[in-house]
Amino acid sequence: MFEANSDNLKLPGSYLFSTVAKKTRAYQSEHPDAQLIRMGIGDVTQPLPPAVIEALHKAVDEQANGATFRGYAPDLGYDFLRAAIAQNDYRARGCDIADDEIFVSDGAKSDSGNIQEIFEKDNVIAVCDPVYPVYVDSNVMAGRTGEYDKETGRWSNVIYMPCTEENGFAPDLPGTGKTKEVSGDRKPDLIYICSPNNPTGAALTKAQLQKWVDYANANGAVIIFDSAYESYITEEDVPHTIYECEGARTCAIEIRSFSKNAGFTGLRLGATIIPKDLKDHNGNALYGLWARRHGTKYNGAPYIVQRAGEAIYSDAGKAQVKEMVSRYMSNAKFIKESLQSMGYTAYGGVNSPYIWLKTPNGMTSWEFFDYLLDKANVIGTPGSGFGPSGEHFFRLTSFGTVENSRIAMDRIRAL
Ligand SMILES: *Cc1c(COP(=O)(O)O)cnc(C)c1O
Repeated sequence: MFEANSDNLKLPGSYLFSTVAKKTRAYQSEHPDAQLIRMGIGDVTQPLPPAVIEALHKAVDEQANGATFRGYAPDLGYDFLRAAIAQNDYRARGCDIADDEIFVSDGAKSDSGNIQEIFEKDNVIAVCDPVYPVYVDSNVMAGRTGEYDKETGRWSNVIYMPCTEENGFAPDLPGTGKTKEVSGDRKPDLIYICSPNNPTGAALTKAQLQKWVDYANANGAVIIFDSAYESYITEEDVPHTIYECEGARTCAIEIRSFSKNAGFTGLRLGATIIPKDLKDHNGNALYGLWARRHGTKYNGAPYIVQRAGEAIYSDAGKAQVKEMVSRYMSNAKFIKESLQSMGYTAYGGVNSPYIWLKTPNGMTSWEFFDYLLDKANVIGTPGSGFGPSGEHFFRLTSFGTVENSRIAMDRIRAL
């Protein structure tokens, strides 16, 4: 008789954003006239840049001609896109990354969920707390996380690195007494870092990230660096890629996305970078393992989408992406400053589209969610959904329209 995978069954029944959607639907059906403003979503709202649309049309037209028609894409990505990424995102920043160290994919969510497959099951993971839920959940599915403790909201085999007001939302190194260690004080093997972070909006400086690279090299750990919000960085000393740090080629995998910078959330395109120097302590290169995994389980991002991705690196594409990101960022600034002027404590919004807000009067994250939904008809995301250290915080995004953000702030001010 068949049996469902017991590791998958350990996961809590519903994903954070499904719970938010369910509560929102219930409220709307009870209050059909309420004009809800959604500031919880992590999805873009501006249309695709013109350079991308043009590239899509051209690539589609090529499919009508036998000479230019394309079937299966190469499973690791077309050379034209791998070269564009390596050149523009890495070598132009002085990082030594070769074209063939870029693995093109359909996005950062699937890569960040799948990457754990190339590591032994008994590897210990460390995650920032709070953080994007995919890292822990995908390791739960792989049977790597131990048991869930409902009291603390933590898995027994996961090292949680609290990112709080006290440490400026920058994780402390394991072994410093500030992280929640797994029993027996095991050191992490896989360290997930997302900078700029979702949900806190905090970004590590180059000096801070360098400490992690040094730690990983000294302790035989791998850093899985999620750079989904790289294009939102406005501060000089914040690195755009982990390979700006010395020694990262021997300890870091980077996961990139075209979603939040160029609006590809619906088109789907991403890339994972694995330097050939990255080897485990037996000398096994992760590069070959990921290539093998990709070749077996994945058939390549669509040609037309890869051409669209290439277009963001043209001069026009670069200018249009920059313009789009800066619109979200001026919205972020407006939201943050409005909240601060009302007396809220608000973080983020400087190198990321996320505002990380402290709930007022000691409300829990979910209490504040209900309060804001009911009294202001504004929807955000409860911080506790991103990890236990997110309790008493709330995430608002600047992905909405300027007009809606203005109305939302007026309503919150009137509370
Ligand atoms: C949105 C997001 C992603 C997802 O990117 P896709 O390329 O759309 O799959 C990855 N990581 C973080 C931290 C995100 O917030």
